[in-house]
Amino acid sequence: MSKLTRRLFLAYGTAMAAVVAGELGKPRRGMADARVLNLYSSRHYDTDNQLYEGFTQKTGIKINLIEGDAAQLVERIKSEGANSPADVLITVDAGNLWRAQTEGLFQPVSSATLNSAIPANLRDPGGHWFGLSKRARVIMYNRGKVNPAQLSTYEALGTPAWKGKVLIRSSNNIYNQSLIAGMIETKGADTAQKWVQGLVANFARPPEGNDTAQIKAVAAGMGDVAIANSYYLARLASSNDPADQAVARNVGMFFPNQRDRGTHINISGAGVVRNAPNQAGAIAFLEYLVTPEAQKIFSFGNNEYPVVSGVPVSPALAQYGTFKSDPVNVATYGRLNSQAIQIMDRAGWK
Ligand code: FE
Repeated sequence: MSKLTRRLFLAYGTAMAAVVAGELGKPRRGMADARVLNLYSSRHYDTDNQLYEGFTQKTGIKINLIEGDAAQLVERIKSEGANSPADVLITVDAGNLWRAQTEGLFQPVSSATLNSAIPANLRDPGGHWFGLSKRARVIMYNRGKVNPAQLSTYEALGTPAWKGKVLIRSSNNIYNQSLIAGMIETKGADTAQKWVQGLVANFARPPEGNDTAQIKAVAAGMGDVAIANSYYLARLASSNDPADQAVARNVGMFFPNQRDRGTHINISGAGVVRNAPNQAGAIAFLEYLVTPEAQKIFSFGNNEYPVVSGVPVSPALAQYGTFKSDPVNVATYGRLNSQAIQIMDRAGWK
């Protein structure tokens, strides 16, 4: 068979397999292609393209990106079952990764590269998923109204001194569920319940909008403080839009609980899907994501903190300083998620 004939034959065979499977234009199982990685992602950050391009340059493996929110992607992989073309699921919040794990979507991975690069509290002890970047859930304060010396802990925001002054998004957001789960783990359910009740009593308004909306509301003086993820303020500070820059100038970032357990952190992370057609490519992708090059993209692209020590932090984020992190294993956020939701519901957190 000549080279050309062979190429045509292969192309024809591939096309026919696609037609027979009724899967034309979708990621496909069966004839697993080691040069393609099917990545299911709920990370909602444009700069992730740099990560995919970096991986393709290094390995020649192309990323086929399937996007959706975390719950959608989990449902999709479940319904695809053993025939799922998914190689890697990447998402934000350890709570989401834990849910995917309990649905049996991940396979355990034993990689010396991943285990030595990623601190043990930022990955599943069984190797089902790995934290790839960190974010801190911090107190954002209005610089004109609050002296940072008045701030101390998450717990303090539940005391009457902050009545009518606290902004935070709704309880159905997993970032908040994980924050409460972390508090249940270190302080116990009773203390967490009392804190949440005090916090809800201090809300400046019924919860509405995302983390960025809370930061903008703080800047506009609708409340004195907000609880939100660190990268959202760094993003406003490094925006080209003068309105965003004005918001960032009015808002300070405070890292709570520095004198005790440390500030609540969460991760974005990923796992290799149970029936990954390209298992070797999937592991190579995770290992690429902990290289200094990729870790720098997480930080300089989306203002997250690297999980690998020694990697520089973006200037927009670095300006807010360094801090002590709560060392709890982030898998806790998944394990205590339903208890956290109950506590928030009981307190009437909308
Ligand atoms: Fe986010």
